Formats: sequence, structure tokens, C-alpha cells
Amino acid sequence: MFSSNLQELLQPLLKLKLNSLQKTIIKKKESHEKYLHGSFLLLFFRFRIMKYKYILFDLDRTLWDFQANSFQTFKEMYETFNLGKLCNTSFDEFYLQYKTINALLWDMYRQGTLLKEVLYVKRFSLTLEYFGVMDCSDLSRKLGDFYVLEGPKKTCLVDGARELLDYLMAKNYHMYIVSNGFKEVQNEKIKTSNIDYYFKKVYLSENIGYQKPNRKIFDAIVSDLEALSNECLMIGDDFAVDIVGAKNAGIDQIYYNPEAIKQEFLPTFEVKNLREIMNIL
Ligand SMILES: [Mg+2]
Repeated sequence: MFSSNLQELLQPLLKLKLNSLQKTIIKKKESHEKYLHGSFLLLFFRFRIMKYKYILFDLDRTLWDFQANSFQTFKEMYETFNLGKLCNTSFDEFYLQYKTINALLWDMYRQGTLLKEVLYVKRFSLTLEYFGVMDCSDLSRKLGDFYVLEGPKKTCLVDGARELLDYLMAKNYHMYIVSNGFKEVQNEKIKTSNIDYYFKKVYLSENIGYQKPNRKIFDAIVSDLEALSNECLMIGDDFAVDIVGAKNAGIDQIYYNPEAIKQEFLPTFEVKNLREIMNIL
């Protein structure tokens, strides 16, 4: 009798305890599921990032500050050859005109319609002629030589470049340069600016026989590395050359786009500052 009363008394208490136990079990299960879900996401994320082993860097304007170095070289050239007096123009005007002419000639060189030797001199002779200096082949050659000799001695790097290279090196990424620039100057630029030790190899279009954005240069590099294209990642500032080329070869890309220029498609990643890449890799 007493036992039956006690059982009745305890029943609601037992029910309450059971409910609370069930709730605890459900909560633990949910939290465990959440944890597992989080772990899978983390694993997925890690896998996605860790899949890149080979980092392909463009050189000019991506690591080597072409703009600052070229500006410095031109200043020296302008003074040395007294171009202000000869062309009756300011440094800014002379440099602006040169850059316009040089860009047009580079397009022709990339398309294979202009020889490198012609480009070397023609960019200066056309600039001089624009400012009314005729019969200037000797001077143009001297300017061409000066630029090729003095330019690569400049050592300005793009903001955040060395920090990024240190970071990637510490994380054991295999790094390479892939450049369309001339072999006479690119190797010297890399050495003089003291970034050569970061790179396992320098791939120059002149040596490979194809220029970016031709996918054949990327295919040749992937094959030389004995890698898969999805293990490689191209980092570059020139959308039409670096990004389009890599994409066509099935290589993911980081578009270094400091001026936030709108482009025809979205690259795999896009950054305004090189340091942002440390959040990606
Ligand atoms: Mg570039």
C-alpha cells in the first residue's frame, strides 16, 4: 500500500527526470551533429585550399613594380640624354607618349607581328618622331640599350609582395615565375630585387615558344611540373593575359586588380592588395 503510494508520488518526478534526460540526449546529439557538420565544412574548405601545390606568378606589375621602376629609369634617361631640350617637351608628356606607343607595339609583339629587336628600338624612334626628332635611329638604339641595361637594376616591388612570398614559402608552396618579358631583363630583375630564392624555376615565354595568354604555355608548364592543372594557381595583374590564359588551360586564378577594373567574367579569386592572398592560401 505504502509502496504503491510512493510509486504514484514518484511517477511525475520520474517522468520529469526522463524528459530532462531525453532533452539532454537530443541536445548532445544536435551539438554533435553540428560539430560533425562543422568539421566536414572545415575539411572541405581545407581540401579546397590545400589542393593548390604550384603557385604561378606573373612578374611585371604583379611582384616587380614595373610602374615605379620604369618611371625611375625614364627619369634617368630623360636627364642623361637631355631629352627635354631635344624634344622640347616635359618629362610627363614624353613618358606618356612613350607608354602609349610601347603598349601598341607590345600588342603587335604578342600577336607575333613584330620582332623583339624591332620593338626594342621602334618604341623610342616613334616617340622621338612624335616630338619632331627625325633621323633618330642611332639615338633610339642608345635609348633602347639604356632602358634594357638600367631598367632591370631597379628593385621596387609591389606593395606586400615580399610579405606574401615569405608567407607562401613558409607554407611550402612551390612557386614559379611565368612571364612574357624578355629573357635579357627578367632574370636580372628577379635577381637584383632579391626574390630569386623564392622560386623553383622561371618560365619565360621566349624559352617555351608561346606567350601568355596562349594556353600552350600553361600546358607546357603543367607538363614540366608533372602536375595536374587543378593543382596549379596563377596569380597575375593582366586579365587578358594571365587570367584568361590560365582559365583556358583549366588553371584557377587570382586576379590582382588594385584598381578594381570590371572584367568580362569572374576569376576564381580577386584581390586588391597582395596581402589578401594570405587569406586565400
Ligand atoms: Mg603583369
